Amino acid sequence: VTEACDVIVIGAGQAGPSIASRFAKAGRKVVLIERSLVGGTCVNTGCMPTKTLAASARAAHMARRGGDFGIRLKGGIEIDMRRVSERAHTVTINARSGLERWIGSAENIELVRGHAKFIRPHEVAVGDRIFGAPRIFINVGGRARYPNMPGLSEIECLTNTSILTLKKVPRHLIVVGGSYIGLEFAQMYRRFGSDVTIVEQGPALISREDEDVSLAIKDMVEGEGIACRLNARCISFAPHSDGIQVNLDCGEGSPGVVGSDVLLAVGRVPNTDDLGLESAGVLTDGRGFVLVDDKLETNVDGVWAVGDCNGKGAFTHTAYNDFEIVTANILEGEQRKVSDRIPGYALYIDPPLGRAGMTEKEARKTGWPLLISKRPMTKVGRAVERDETLGFMKVIADAETKQILGAAILGVGGDEAIHGILDMMSAHIPFPVLEWAVPIHPTVSELIPTLIRNLKPMQ
Ligand SMILES: Cc1cc2nc3c(=O)[nH]c(=O)nc-3n(C[C@H](O)[C@H](O)[C@H](O)COP(=O)(O)OP(=O)(O)OC[C@H]3O[C@@H](n4cnc5c(N)ncnc54)[C@H](O)[C@@H]3O)c2cc1C
Repeated sequence: VTEACDVIVIGAGQAGPSIASRFAKAGRKVVLIERSLVGGTCVNTGCMPTKTLAASARAAHMARRGGDFGIRLKGGIEIDMRRVSERAHTVTINARSGLERWIGSAENIELVRGHAKFIRPHEVAVGDRIFGAPRIFINVGGRARYPNMPGLSEIECLTNTSILTLKKVPRHLIVVGGSYIGLEFAQMYRRFGSDVTIVEQGPALISREDEDVSLAIKDMVEGEGIACRLNARCISFAPHSDGIQVNLDCGEGSPGVVGSDVLLAVGRVPNTDDLGLESAGVLTDGRGFVLVDDKLETNVDGVWAVGDCNGKGAFTHTAYNDFEIVTANILEGEQRKVSDRIPGYALYIDPPLGRAGMTEKEARKTGWPLLISKRPMTKVGRAVERDETLGFMKVIADAETKQILGAAILGVGGDEAIHGILDMMSAHIPFPVLEWAVPIHPTVSELIPTLIRNLKPMQ
């Protein structure tokens, strides 16, 4: 027998619980299905544990740098990896149990544990129960991509999930993949004391960003003693008496590297392959992302896909924004669109990269008349006072419309300061307005008006 409800939400990640709660508060009967841990990737294996670990890694880094600040630590520093991972675990457990309490206490929401699978367009099976609803939200997220690289099945490798259970510092961690996740773990473990090598197939780290950003990040990580092996076109793996051998065939350096552990960080795949989408007639693209329109509805009426699995975003804040879009449209009659969203994100190496809108290379492709302004962090008082002067600030604007098109703040506080620009862009405020702002001294943000005043035509 099909158990009828008003709304089915598949996945209790970053959009699902909020969607469930919003519909439940509006008096709808909601079934929220989760096959693993409530809170999904961000809470359990993504943002929260990694940023907690990064905070420990920064503490170690600053302790080592104590002498620069006139603070002497007698006898050096020691990493208690048990305590480090316990901290991360506690942050995750607290967030997860808070979420579970919230869902558990909500009226009109039944949390069903198990793997959900479509059996018809508006029917979903979980074990031997079948649920039917006129509205279904797919929020199944993604997992680490397991690439088809020779020898991978012969070795044990880590992913962002399994690395969180490490209780000791790897002797030599080889990170395969030089993008967000790989870079964050690489720096973190280097600061915990591992030798670290980043192996990247492409010619640059974090190649989606502008070249100046990629190069500055490479300098930063190399400055901390991380080896970067770029252009590793033929990556393969083999067991080695000293751990694991990763063969690279790089254009530069020796052909292989031997490490004690390998972390795979070569992208994410959506959890849509075992969801029975074919039984519902819901279409995906070639990589498995659910195809959605600008309001996040799939090709099947009454079925939406939100969060990482729709390929429109890959962040907690984009998943949450998807929740805001679908509920505002359905329950409040609004006309919100995902294409109205200004891209914003951060890369949490230290110092971080805060990004808003277009990169310089994307802006150049538009053919619009552009203005650009750049300032090194060595000319930012806050950074100088903290003796953390790596990086730069950059803003790009449209010379005609006077709108800011994009910005990057790579440097101390960059993840926070970027919001000064992101908010301007979201409000569509022309940049000359900022010239009248009176920012607080000494901050990183105080240089944003100066940056704006120095906008010059782009060469
Ligand atoms: C290492 C790492 C660090 C990150 N750091 C950041 C960061 O600092 N900032 C940021 O914004 N983002 C970060 N992210 C990305 C962020 O975690 C994701 O964008 C976010 O979790 C996506 O939310 P979601 O709701 O789409 O999916 P998820 O959080 O992945 O949740 C999906 C849920 O669906 C469940 N599920 C899947 N299939 C089924 C099924 N068939 N039946 C029932 N349940 C199912 C899963 O078990 C899971 O709980 C990071 C990711 C990683 C891996």
